[in-house]
Amino acid sequence: MTFHDLQLIDPILRALKDKNYHEPTEIQAKAIPQVLDQRDVLGCAQTGTGKTAAFAIPIIQRIHEMSDGQYRHDDIQALIVTPTRELAIQIDENIREYSKYTDLKHAVIFGGVKQGRQVEQLQRGVHILTATPGRLLDLVEQRYIDLSRIKVLVLDEADRMLDMGFINDIRKILRLVPKERQSLFFSATMPDNIKQLSQTILRNPIRVEVTPVSSTAETVDQRVYYTNRSDKNALLLHILQNRDMDQVLLFSRTKHGADRIVRNLKKKNISAQAIHGDKAQNQRQKALSQFKDGRVRVLVATDIAARGIDIQKLEYVINYDIPNVPETYVHRIGRSGRAGEAGIAISICEPEENVHMRDVEKLIKQKVQVINDHPYPQTEKPMTAAEKKEWNKEKQRRKQEFFAKRKASGGGRGRRGR
Ligand code: AMP
Repeated sequence: MTFHDLQLIDPILRALKDKNYHEPTEIQAKAIPQVLDQRDVLGCAQTGTGKTAAFAIPIIQRIHEMSDGQYRHDDIQALIVTPTRELAIQIDENIREYSKYTDLKHAVIFGGVKQGRQVEQLQRGVHILTATPGRLLDLVEQRYIDLSRIKVLVLDEADRMLDMGFINDIRKILRLVPKERQSLFFSATMPDNIKQLSQTILRNPIRVEVTPVSSTAETVDQRVYYTNRSDKNALLLHILQNRDMDQVLLFSRTKHGADRIVRNLKKKNISAQAIHGDKAQNQRQKALSQFKDGRVRVLVATDIAARGIDIQKLEYVINYDIPNVPETYVHRIGRSGRAGEAGIAISICEPEENVHMRDVEKLIKQKVQVINDHPYPQTEKPMTAAEKKEWNKEKQRRKQEFFAKRKASGGGRGRRGR
């Protein structure tokens, strides 16, 4: 199948040609005709499947056709809501590329930066707006944005949006958009709460599904190293002795963990940068572009910050810890082996995480290959319930002590997302 078969208009076909897209991905082939047909769509797809173009292209086409290419008014016609700034920026970049041979106006708004420029852009008129929920509601409240004439609403990465606690924001947004509209709802996973949410938004949707989350990107070669907690850093350095690993996305559960890993790598002259919620937007963008052009070998990211990172041909993903939510593991390894490329996902598992690894294997319905040939084998046992309780208490105590000390010295910053 080609993009011509999808009855796309010439300005879009030319833009796709410039991008060197030869044929639609599975989700694009399935979703584009339905969106053009003005149907509501429930899309089950991960990042990396081409889902952004699957909704962006037909939206551009619909708006172009509705306005007859004239764009006589500047109302927001389509609203795309997505959980993270990185994802919002990338979606808007895609829209810019796909719509470059039209006169359509688009903009992106997200928090963490001053609103001035975003407001100026809104005042010049916008047809497709991509937004994170908080800044969107903020600017609606200040009356810079009017959502009352939206024709298409897209909720992207809905599962992540709920994980990040955006449910009330989503409900508020739903009250601001017209009831008569087309809605597109995308999520990598479809647990019950997501299904329920989708039912309140969609009308008689077509369900479009590619690679269900539990089946894992089949091109990803998965390996696990079992080790002790205290040996993780040494094991990581051992793994990175493989010089083929010149571009590695490494996941850390916490922001502090991410910073610590970067420090440890830099001590050994391995170029590394962290991206997480405590980093300013320009720092994140800089780290990402240095990683993309090969100046940074290891990009250390928390799960939320990593959402929407778009790096083609990313071969290696390392899990420095095993997530307690197995779907998160699947999201992480989905960052390698994109668009049919081979990928390798390496997990480092400490005794406490053995149980999480078992949950992962249950979800993906396969055993992950165990690498035993390494100098730091797991010799310790997971803690018993009583030991864990004691350990958590101790951790809590240390944390309180740390913050008390920091407060006493007048230091510290506000807490933001991961
Ligand atoms: P997404 O799932 O939207 O994050 O897209 C994943 C990556 O695939 C992005 O880098 C896109 O630029 C790329 N992509 C999307 N559609 C196509 C296509 N039809 N052919 C080749 N690459 C594509």
